[in-house]
Amino acid sequence: MVDLRSDTVTRPTPAMLEAMTSADVGDDVYGEDPSVNALEAEAAALFGKEAAVFTPTGSMANQIGLQLLVRPGEELLCDVKAHVVNFEMGAAAALGGITTRTWTVPNGRLDAALIEPMINLPNPYATTTRAIAVENTHNIGGGTVQPIEELRALRALADVYDLGLHLDGARIWNAHAATGVPFSEYGGLFDTVSVCLSKGLGAPVGSLLITDAERAARARVIRKRLGGGMRQAGFLAAAGRYALANHIDRLVEDHARAQHLARSLEPFGVCDASQVETNIVIVRIPGIAKVAAAAAEQGVRISVLGPDWGRMLTHYDVDDAGIEHAVKVVSDLVR
Ligand SMILES: *Cc1c(COP(=O)(O)O)cnc(C)c1O
Repeated sequence: MVDLRSDTVTRPTPAMLEAMTSADVGDDVYGEDPSVNALEAEAAALFGKEAAVFTPTGSMANQIGLQLLVRPGEELLCDVKAHVVNFEMGAAAALGGITTRTWTVPNGRLDAALIEPMINLPNPYATTTRAIAVENTHNIGGGTVQPIEELRALRALADVYDLGLHLDGARIWNAHAATGVPFSEYGGLFDTVSVCLSKGLGAPVGSLLITDAERAARARVIRKRLGGGMRQAGFLAAAGRYALANHIDRLVEDHARAQHLARSLEPFGVCDASQVETNIVIVRIPGIAKVAAAAAEQGVRISVLGPDWGRMLTHYDVDDAGIEHAVKVVSDLVR
């Protein structure tokens, strides 16, 4: 089966499993798991920040970040297609008491100039804007990389208005692989950063919220409140440490395969290869649900996101032969 629905479908490699089973562990709620502590220290250092907090999911890391920056009854600004408002089950409102207002841009690509007019400064008659969240790469936008100049402009804006900045960096690894921008530069621009170890990096479970020491201490309280205090989580952290050490450099292979996939399918009118920047290929196929069902019968899985569109993602469990098979199956079906 060539599973292109998501980059979350990978299984640990034998070497990663070996790192997991040989991990030193302890009770992480007591702060005594050496593997979790090492992972947190390594991730913080990578992003040039003081601390990191290991979480079971990216949604939890995002929601902790938002709760650190925005109090109940205050407002977060973000893109209309952002994961934090579309795919986290209303958690910002339900659990954080946070209201959200969104901007709309093509492919989710940040345009910092659009945001300044949206900001509500503290006053007695309008909801106060406290923070802005940005997704990089942008998932539903199609793996869009946020331009570093726009991120710098956003930081300048946030400084002027004293706003918090949260980076949903579930796929920041792919942004780095595509641009070479160092992780520490992203870390320097944002107050809180979430990253996923279970997407392109291929760990089975785990995310991190990366921030300063004071916020990290508060993050541990919020994490426990959300039910995210884990015990011998070092077995999972060991997979994350292995992924950070070994699976970042290979992401360029996923990007090359996504390019090849998009260029091969483009002549059939299902995608625009010029829009593919990382490992996500958005496909537009009328009646895609039927095509996806037929493709699955021939060993290729693609994800359906609407009546006429979906996506195909590359990751380390897909090789060149898998891509060739997917191209053949999908192009035959849409022809
Ligand atoms: C996958 C993803 C997350 C986190 O998802 P979980 O399934 O909760 O780990 C957050 N943001 C983006 C953009 C994502 O794609």
